[in-house]
Amino acid sequence: MSTAHDRRRKAQRAAALLAGAALDEPHLIGRLGEWDLIRKGRVVFAVPVIKDDFPPDLRAAYQRRRAAMLTGTCVCEGRLRPGGPYGLQMDHAAGCIASDGSIAEITARHGGTTIMIPPSAFDD
Ligand SMILES: [Zn+2]
Repeated sequence: MSTAHDRRRKAQRAAALLAGAALDEPHLIGRLGEWDLIRKGRVVFAVPVIKDDFPPDLRAAYQRRRAAMLTGTCVCEGRLRPGGPYGLQMDHAAGCIASDGSIAEITARHGGTTIMIPPSAFDD
């Protein structure tokens, strides 16, 4: 069982990794289904692939989401931080087109479903 001290140290290490990653150039290292795997520093980000046949609103949402993940900030002023089920959490403002809810709504409007990596994929 982890103590508050352990959790604080883990969060500090994650924040340091993230800060280091922010300074490095992105390198595409592979594709996993609907996700591009992009390494920055010692962090690998899974960002959505933008397909040629995406409608313009979905393309815009995914472009914003990719940029937010890879720069650590979104135009809605959301910031990437350690935490959440995936180890990294982006807190988009309400109504930001790159939020999970907006992307789900846009995708549903076009008759599709969003593809999310299940949190269990990151279990040890
Ligand atoms: Zn945002």
